[in-house]
Amino acid sequence: MRPQMMKIFENMRADNALTVQNAKDNGFKVVGMFCAFSPQELVLAAGALPVSLCGTRQEPIPAAEKTLPRNLCPLIKSSFGFAVTDTCPYFRASDFVIAETTCDGKKKMFELLAQYKPLHVMHLPQGTDRSGALQWWLEEMNLLKERLEEHLEVTINQEDLRAAIKLSNRERQALKNLLEVNRLDPAPLTGMDMLTAIWVRGFNVDKEEGIGLIEQLTEEIRNIAGQGISPFAKGTPRILLTGCPVGTGCEKVVRLLEECGGSVVCYENCTGIKTLEYLVDEDEQRDPMEAIAERYLQIPCSCISPNPGRLELISKLVADYQVDGVVDLSWQACHTYIVEGELVRRHVRDNCGVPYIQLETDYSTSDIEQLKTRISAFIEMLNGS
Ligand code: SF4
Ligand code: SF4
Repeated sequence: MRPQMMKIFENMRADNALTVQNAKDNGFKVVGMFCAFSPQELVLAAGALPVSLCGTRQEPIPAAEKTLPRNLCPLIKSSFGFAVTDTCPYFRASDFVIAETTCDGKKKMFELLAQYKPLHVMHLPQGTDRSGALQWWLEEMNLLKERLEEHLEVTINQEDLRAAIKLSNRERQALKNLLEVNRLDPAPLTGMDMLTAIWVRGFNVDKEEGIGLIEQLTEEIRNIAGQGISPFAKGTPRILLTGCPVGTGCEKVVRLLEECGGSVVCYENCTGIKTLEYLVDEDEQRDPMEAIAERYLQIPCSCISPNPGRLELISKLVADYQVDGVVDLSWQACHTYIVEGELVRRHVRDNCGVPYIQLETDYSTSDIEQLKTRISAFIEMLNGS
């Protein structure tokens, strides 16, 4: 039985584009963000609407390839393509864009994107194990705060920041509660529906409404699971997906994993737990800017070197979600995730004791048959083990 609430989530992306435009017509400012390192608390505290601009569709890529090299990650090309073709309502609506120096391709693309929108690039420390990394990142946060204040003509005060921290933490907790329904065996929600629900909420500009909808969905799924109903038979291989972010439009690997007989029970990537596991400290005695900087620096992205937090998170999730196999999805030419894959492979083999596979692909459908062959063999192996 599919949750009724999923219908609402399926329509949310298009509905929210209209909501953003209405909000703009009523004087609200919109701030676009590309990465999990973008601090939405600052945008909310500025009274603006944060929207996600991460490109997850193939359609704008040919236009992007007129400027960018073809052997670049599809996420970067798709994001840039949406801007140059003016086909993303959220990019069009953005009054200001926050970018970060994460991977090389993305940070150089941002130099080109700056022709289209007022844009501020935050300089991320390369490693979090260096003394001074937090201080550096805090200075970057303060610089962004100044730029937002200047550009949006507002003042961001401590009270607004504390309220934004609480709201963002509640949103993260609601999403985490949703993901955690799939700790049940068999999982009550398909990986495809989970992806739809968590991805489209990034386009929900009314945070309170978004939290309410996520809570209703979680409640409905718990009720369905309470009746012993699941889309999967007991014993279906349970998959943890790690690696590059996935969204609606580039979900082919998730779809194939489930069509070939698996159940994607958990997303470790930026679409899922990687962005939800860490909350901002709400201690009123602390400087909220420092608490925000500290939280964002914990995100275990492969652009950080070394990145032991990802391995620790994978171990925890394999145990919590009773995972049978780990699938590491890397977008083509994503050097940081592809290279880090070897460390993940060794870690999963030596410390988690479950099979691992790395899949490298793009947003096109040209390799569907090869992917299907590899995924079927992997699921067959999980069924046999
Ligand atoms: S994987 Fe890294 S660079 Fe990509 S969105 Fe997540 S935090 Fe940002
Ligand atoms: S998927 Fe990899 S190459 Fe693409 S933007 Fe993210 S970190 Fe950069």
